[in-house]
Amino acid sequence: MEANGTPQSPAGDWRSYERMLLPPIQDLHKLDVYTKHGGYERLRRVLEDDDVAPDDITNEVKASGLTGRGGAGFPTGVKWTFMPEPDDRPRFLGVNGDESEPGTFKDRQVMEYNPHLMFEGILLAGYAMHIDTAYVYTRGEYTDWIALMAEQLENAYEAGYVGEDILGSDFSMDIVLHKGAGAYICGEETSLMESLEGKRGYPRYKPPFPAQKGIFSCPTTINNVETLAHVPLIVQEGGDAYSTIGAEDMPGAALYGMSGHVKQPGVYEYPTGMLLSDLIYDVCGGMARGEDLKAVVPGGSSVPPIRADQIDGLSMNDESLGEVGSRTGTFCPLVLDEETDMVSFTRRVAHFYQDETCGQCTPCREGTGWLENILARIDEGEGRMRDIDLILELCDNMDGGRTICAFADGAVGPIRAAVKRFRDEFEAKCEASVYPVSTDVSAGPDSAVAATE
Ligand code: SF4
Repeated sequence: MEANGTPQSPAGDWRSYERMLLPPIQDLHKLDVYTKHGGYERLRRVLEDDDVAPDDITNEVKASGLTGRGGAGFPTGVKWTFMPEPDDRPRFLGVNGDESEPGTFKDRQVMEYNPHLMFEGILLAGYAMHIDTAYVYTRGEYTDWIALMAEQLENAYEAGYVGEDILGSDFSMDIVLHKGAGAYICGEETSLMESLEGKRGYPRYKPPFPAQKGIFSCPTTINNVETLAHVPLIVQEGGDAYSTIGAEDMPGAALYGMSGHVKQPGVYEYPTGMLLSDLIYDVCGGMARGEDLKAVVPGGSSVPPIRADQIDGLSMNDESLGEVGSRTGTFCPLVLDEETDMVSFTRRVAHFYQDETCGQCTPCREGTGWLENILARIDEGEGRMRDIDLILELCDNMDGGRTICAFADGAVGPIRAAVKRFRDEFEAKCEASVYPVSTDVSAGPDSAVAATE
């Protein structure tokens, strides 16, 4: 705590932070503007300096403490070390720009305003891991930004920053843009690889992990768009210096995609570890409709919501959010005010997961459907009180390693937390329902029907 009693922000003096990922430079997406402001110089330095070995880049990224910004938060440099020693097989980088989770829209800003920073990050990652080709897998609906990236990528090829013998060195790498077709599951790394190979986007069993058997069965690393955009900044500043920015457990800058009932939603770049209260009331100007805060979903729809009375002193890093059973996810807080009907909100979340399950695993395929059905009947005034515990029981039978991928866990986490943290709202709807109140889960369906007769 600071001397005046306000909580200390792990983001430090965030008000004087100068943007690095999205600096306020007009037309930065254009190659000439990007190079005028130091763009591709980090790559040039690395390629021209005989003393910089590929492993040195990996070590800098490890030292920076950078964690993936796509939702899982795994340490990026450590992930890179999973790649095997080069052999005669091609090696791939999958760049995850599928960004399809409700409430998440920050990678789009990198694609739109600073695509060359992402390309430079891809090339540095490629150099570090001896990679031949990167596939940028982008959400298909991002039509304008895919066209913009294609134009800028062509410019980068013509200028010798991408392709054969980059900048006169013996390092060659291709970057290929690939458009997704609207399936959320293709943001899951193994499903993304299946989709890239032209197959249905079904997640694969792990192991083998992508580094062992990835795209076209070759060694592969999958990194998120924003994650890779940090890499040139780490090479520029040095890993140790970068690690001093923001929260200790997940350092660096972050793109906060703020949405919901705030006055000024949008994407804001600040250090990690911002207090949720600073983001809502200072950065976004407070609540839009004059209502009090009810809940925050800190990082995309698959992370557990937090109640307003829990946010005091909470900051946007996993150590802090973990104290209340949530996490940073994609760093995109969705802010909900007192007018929000949490039953309807939870039903809407359940619908998304029911609609997007790939259907391979029974607990996920059937469970997401039943969750939506039960939530729908509560929401529509036909719920029974025991339905509330039935939802929790269903959740317990879906997550915790029962499925091929983490989708089921992502579906269950927010629903379980919403039911537990806003149980009074679920109970109120059940009490007002056309069916009798019963909290006995073990009672069969007939007992409830019989009681109405
Ligand atoms: Fe598909 Fe769900 Fe199984 Fe993942 S958990 S593989 S989305 S059915």
